[in-house]
Amino acid sequence: MNAPIAASRFAIPFSTDQVLIGGDWRAPDGAATLALEDPSDGGEFARIARGGAADVDAAVVAARAALDRGAWGRMSAVERGRVLSAIGRKVLDNVELLAALEVHDVGKPLRQARADAVALARYFEFYGGACDKVHGETLPFAAGYTALTLREPHGVTGHIVPWNYPMQIVGRSVGAALAMGNACVLKPAEEACLTVLAFARIAAEAGLPPGALNVVTGLGEEAGAALSAHAGVDHLSFTGSVATGALVQSAAARNAVPVTLELGGKSPQIVFADADLDAALPFLVNAGIQNAGQTCSAASRILVERSVFAAVRAKMAERYRALRVGPAAADLDLGPVISQRQKVVIEHFLGLARDDGLAIAGEGAIVDGAPRGGHYVRPALIDDVPADHVLAQDEIFGPVQVLIAFDGEAEALRIANGTKYGLVAGVWTKDGGRQMRMARALRCGQVFINNYGAGGGIELPFGGVKHSGHGREKGFEALYGFSTLKTVAIHHG
Ligand code: NAD
Repeated sequence: MNAPIAASRFAIPFSTDQVLIGGDWRAPDGAATLALEDPSDGGEFARIARGGAADVDAAVVAARAALDRGAWGRMSAVERGRVLSAIGRKVLDNVELLAALEVHDVGKPLRQARADAVALARYFEFYGGACDKVHGETLPFAAGYTALTLREPHGVTGHIVPWNYPMQIVGRSVGAALAMGNACVLKPAEEACLTVLAFARIAAEAGLPPGALNVVTGLGEEAGAALSAHAGVDHLSFTGSVATGALVQSAAARNAVPVTLELGGKSPQIVFADADLDAALPFLVNAGIQNAGQTCSAASRILVERSVFAAVRAKMAERYRALRVGPAAADLDLGPVISQRQKVVIEHFLGLARDDGLAIAGEGAIVDGAPRGGHYVRPALIDDVPADHVLAQDEIFGPVQVLIAFDGEAEALRIANGTKYGLVAGVWTKDGGRQMRMARALRCGQVFINNYGAGGGIELPFGGVKHSGHGREKGFEALYGFSTLKTVAIHHG
């Protein structure tokens, strides 16, 4: 095993305890700070600004000024595209810095952290190229009129981001919002936000005008709540838990502000007996343990047709027994989970499995020498779980997958659709008719046939139904969500 990098030996090359408002980095109102902990050893390794309502207010004012009086509001779509493309290139130049920050901040194994940084660049490449390709239409209408539509930015957009994929979520939501000409106020998660702060500096160096992106770090119930309730915000994009999403949407409703909600999931992968099991196996396990299971689209339920259940269980269990958990810098299969609190939640679910006599089919191991203060959890595959059991219904947000047996297509569908969530589903079958029937009948935002996740798919619209949220981010579709349509009818006789 590689020796873990001690948190104290990592020098962060910028001030982390400031907010970004109108192009200026400054101490937050009241100058309070919060500690950031390295999940690999539990040690404090940085401090961030504890921004609050006054900082959010200043950020909203700065964003509005950037639109009304600043260089950002005057830019054409082509010029915006050039700036976004330049940001993408500069992110690529800084992949190693961003990855190192993420290793310490989120506890993400180095390869995954690098992949997230590259994805952040890719979002800016994609949206940089898309800026000047979204347009209104002319409409056939009554004689004597010309009627047309204009695609316009909402204005000031608020972005509330969780800790599990800060770079990817900033890329998809801020990237699309900037592409449409909005000015953004961004509130990253208090547990992990250093890559967001680094990104804001990179974006400014690449030529993003002052005020187009403002960043206020702080607690959810302070800075996050202030942003959700701010009357000067024209659109909100929230990614996080169902409970917080409901609070954000309620606050926004008081100002009649539209909200995109990207919430949790309990996504299934469904394995039919005719599937190519060897092709499926890596996807079945990886989609459950990636980022230590702290992924909204984690495939936390594995539904297997009864005739191949034993074979799939045996193959998955073998893979689980080979999984290694350790410090993020050691770049193993899994790093730590984000916090002691998250670890306690996961262990609570594992305790419920034990209490109800559910067996563990396969379990990974924590490597020797992993720092005692780190938040390590052994990944666990739980055998033969009833579809209505709490472990098969609730989002655990840790490296725990449940195996569920089914008989035939109808039952597979009933179980797959039988939770309050509807984010993603995977289907493994060679039967073309079944592929299409399942794709149409699954109630969720994305269906993957004979793959899972399509390697991230920046181009593919993403979002949920039911408690997984509403609205779509990623792909071209996000550009419609981050803009509004104005109709103009001209009577010229
Ligand atoms: P969370 O809801 O606790 O926090 C998310 C963000 O909301 C953070 O920035 C937090 O500071 C802020 N927040 C907290 N309280 C707030 C309040 N009262 N008002 C406004 N903002 C507030 O979620 P989390 O634990 O950080 O993230 C995990 C959850 O996010 C999981 O449920 C996961 O499935 C979900 N998630 C969804 C997606 C998706 O695209 N659908 C992606 C990643 C994560």
